[in-house]
Amino acid sequence: MKEVNLGEHMRKYDLIIVGGGASAMAAAISAKKINAGLSVLMLEKLDVLGKKVAASGNGRCNISNLNAFGAPLVIDFLKGCNIPLRESEEGRLYPYNEDARSVVKVMTEKLCDLGIDIKPGVRVESVERKPEEDGFFVRGNGMELEAAVVIIATGGKSMANLGTTGDGYVMARSLGHRVNPLIPVLAPVEVYEDMGRLAGVRAKAKLTLFKDGRELVIENGEVQFTNKGLSGICVFNISRFLTKDADESIAEALGRYSIAVNYIPDLTLDEEELALCEEGQFGALVKEAVGAEILARSGGRAEEIPVNLRAMKFSPKRVEGWNRAQLTRGGVDLREINEETGESKLVKGLYFCGEILDRDFPCGGYNLNHAWLTGIKAGRAVAND
Ligand SMILES: Cc1cc2nc3c(=O)[nH]c(=O)nc-3n(C[C@H](O)[C@H](O)[C@H](O)COP(=O)(O)OP(=O)(O)OC[C@H]3O[C@@H](n4cnc5c(N)ncnc54)[C@H](O)[C@@H]3O)c2cc1C
Repeated sequence: MKEVNLGEHMRKYDLIIVGGGASAMAAAISAKKINAGLSVLMLEKLDVLGKKVAASGNGRCNISNLNAFGAPLVIDFLKGCNIPLRESEEGRLYPYNEDARSVVKVMTEKLCDLGIDIKPGVRVESVERKPEEDGFFVRGNGMELEAAVVIIATGGKSMANLGTTGDGYVMARSLGHRVNPLIPVLAPVEVYEDMGRLAGVRAKAKLTLFKDGRELVIENGEVQFTNKGLSGICVFNISRFLTKDADESIAEALGRYSIAVNYIPDLTLDEEELALCEEGQFGALVKEAVGAEILARSGGRAEEIPVNLRAMKFSPKRVEGWNRAQLTRGGVDLREINEETGESKLVKGLYFCGEILDRDFPCGGYNLNHAWLTGIKAGRAVAND
């Protein structure tokens, strides 16, 4: 990647994009493809673009989902960037080589081919409207730049090591936007139960989240037990529903939830198999540590064994925070944004795209899909304006 040399003097651009992640890259590419004459600068805080994309999907990058809103547009865009796709279960899409880093590499090459100026290592500190004319001052690393249009694509607030520390929310507020409360979601859930026996075990299971004793949501998948609680995609998805009302404390709120783990959701046991279980003989039905936990919890009461096999209860204590969460809930209030373009309804020429917007989705490629989609829409709108 050839870095642009901005020098010490003020530089003017048609479009400055703050951030160099998924939505920023989609916006820049989409804008330049339509209007090659546009001067575009991308400012990224870290030394490389797309660090979160490179870490996504455990390095495989679950890039979109066939069932996601706007997926056809996103798929076209990705193919146009020379990223062929591979379909997996439940409509999940991956780059064909399942290598997240290559997605960033291919997109970076595309940005360069299109003549987009890229400046990594610049932390934008402020975006300010010009006092008496349209346009903005963008400041960071001691530089002052000018732009007719600005797209803020700084992502969320989770996993600061990937560049996302919530800077964009401060910029949005300073430009008059309402930012809804920020909450870490898609995260492991700590529980009150002793995890000594189960820690380190992975088990395919059906998880049911109850609130006030009523079934709220069901997730199937692989649960990963840790020394503090539960993790894995199915648990991340459940974490999105562990919410609190305005007038209750987090502890009070979480006290209303429980998670039941069914280790044999698709099996009906005949009488003989059930009798063996009730004697504590699980054979190859469940992993050894799970069997030991079922026995310990059942405390010698045979009738408790099938209950713990099908509905082992866990009581949420805490949803892990910003360092472990994959996503931010909350953000720039969508009522103040034209969702077709990402443009602010309050400030002409100001756009937002990606996770900074107050919209979050479950695991499965939906969040990256949202980032690409909102980036494409913003880029096209700027180019067509
Ligand atoms: C570990 C992990 C795995 C994930 N896996 C998946 C997955 O497989 N599928 C999926 O759909 N979603 C996944 N997600 C979520 C998805 O990666 C994000 O929702 C998506 O990247 C958001 O795109 P974005 O463009 O809004 O922000 P980002 O891609 O986070 O990019 C924002 C960029 O802005 C930069 N920035 C921030 N502040 C400034 C500043 N002041 N100045 C300059 N630059 C700044 C950051 O350094 C960053 O590079 C995952 C998230 C994590 C944390």
